[in-house]
Amino acid sequence: MSASKYKSDLLIGGEWTETSQQFPVLNPASMEVLSEVSDASPDDALQAVGAAHDAFSHWSQTSSRQRAEVLRRAFEIMTDEIEDCARLIALENGKAWRDAMGEATYAAEFFRWFSEEASRIAGDFRYAPNRDKTIIVDHRPVGVAYMITPWNFPAAMATRKLAPALAAGCTAVLKPASETPLTALWVADVLQRAGAPAGVVNVITTSTSGKVSSAVLADPRVATLSFTGSTYVGKLLLAQTAQRVLPSSMELGGNAPFLVLEGADVELAVVGAMDAKMRNGGSACTAANRFYVHESLAADFAQHFQLALAGLRIGPGIDQANDLGAMVSVKERDKVLDLLGKAEGEGAKPVAVSEAPEFGAFMAPRIVRDVQHGSTLTRDEIFGPVAPIVSFSSQDEAIRMANDTDYGLISYVFAKDNGEGIKVARRMESGMVAVNRGVMSDPAAPFGGMKESGLGREGGFAGVHEFLESQYFAVDL
Ligand code: NAD
Repeated sequence: MSASKYKSDLLIGGEWTETSQQFPVLNPASMEVLSEVSDASPDDALQAVGAAHDAFSHWSQTSSRQRAEVLRRAFEIMTDEIEDCARLIALENGKAWRDAMGEATYAAEFFRWFSEEASRIAGDFRYAPNRDKTIIVDHRPVGVAYMITPWNFPAAMATRKLAPALAAGCTAVLKPASETPLTALWVADVLQRAGAPAGVVNVITTSTSGKVSSAVLADPRVATLSFTGSTYVGKLLLAQTAQRVLPSSMELGGNAPFLVLEGADVELAVVGAMDAKMRNGGSACTAANRFYVHESLAADFAQHFQLALAGLRIGPGIDQANDLGAMVSVKERDKVLDLLGKAEGEGAKPVAVSEAPEFGAFMAPRIVRDVQHGSTLTRDEIFGPVAPIVSFSSQDEAIRMANDTDYGLISYVFAKDNGEGIKVARRMESGMVAVNRGVMSDPAAPFGGMKESGLGREGGFAGVHEFLESQYFAVDL
């Protein structure tokens, strides 16, 4: 075991396993090294696959009640230690304390929801329509699940996969993002303490995700891939899973439109915009990426939004007084600054509404008025605290612009009432639509996207089926 005060080694077959190579994990608010973390090679990763494969024969045969109780204990431990989890998130990801606590709570709720779902996995029994046979459908755990998670929600993206996988009777090899491995290791430790048997949950941290993942995905003992990350990497992985016809669940990038329709309540829309844009400092797949505001409200909305953004106190997330933390890394911050530079080249005029600390990966929010639909800021996923505003004159035009993207994860619609909001929501080409509200994620709801934003759904009643395979028996009864 390494000397770090955080769990920082691989978890393979119930053992914390140190590797000869390490890589550093930084606090992006101070640029200090938080910990050196074990750097898995493809061979280490295959050992984790072996451990998960061995554990599957036992875990898949346990009763759903036993699996539910492990998940329920994990929920209780996580809830008791919620501040430890939030602290790790704030330290390695940089997000503000309130966001870190929000994420930790959301993450724990996946353990509770899927502990409840474990015993509700039902098969199907019916007579064939012409009564010549009986149709019995069983849902069985698919096997070893390989999970790859991003840095923006280091706890919740892990529990959103681990909880349904374990509920289904699958075992897991989790590969967290190299920027934020400490939270994932902490979550795995919670599951160990909750009674998950050795090998049911394995974690491999690595600085060479591509090489390690290729080795894992080529291994016939791996039965499914569950990925959350960018559309670009998702497509690379789909090309690999295609070689083995491996089931793949994909939670990918977004380019969420935020519509403020004629007659909408501007004050409510600004509250929603602050949630939808600024939760996680804009580094969320659900982040409102582009604001389409009816011309009668555009000036009012922009003014109030700018005032609200200017009121955010920026500083280290670990300090509870701050509303906006650091971005995850200087590299990610600079990607957003590059996008802004490109937009300025197209004539956009971003306004920085406040000042960010000069050390660390901080960035002050920007508001950009009078943006042209089709320009960089409406096409690319910004993933930072930048709010481009486009005005429109007709509802049809707004809906056309909102749907004019290859992404389709989430949309926000602010309308004069919920009836009109739902009518417009039905026309949005996205897996999720928030109506007159700025936050919608919930472990009990199906999260996922249309178009290039993904395949499959996580959470809700659907989430567990990503880890189950149907088998049909025909019998004369
Ligand atoms: P990313 O795609 O760069 O990385 C995601 C994960 O993939 C990380 O663990 C990374 O180490 C790994 N990875 C990178 N290259 C790889 C490769 N060649 N082979 C295998 N694994 C590889 O994404 P990110 O920058 O960590 O996260 C931001 C992206 O994630 C955004 O596009 C965001 O919209 C998306 N996201 C989507 C959801 C969702 O539920 N739809 C949730 C959160 C984030």
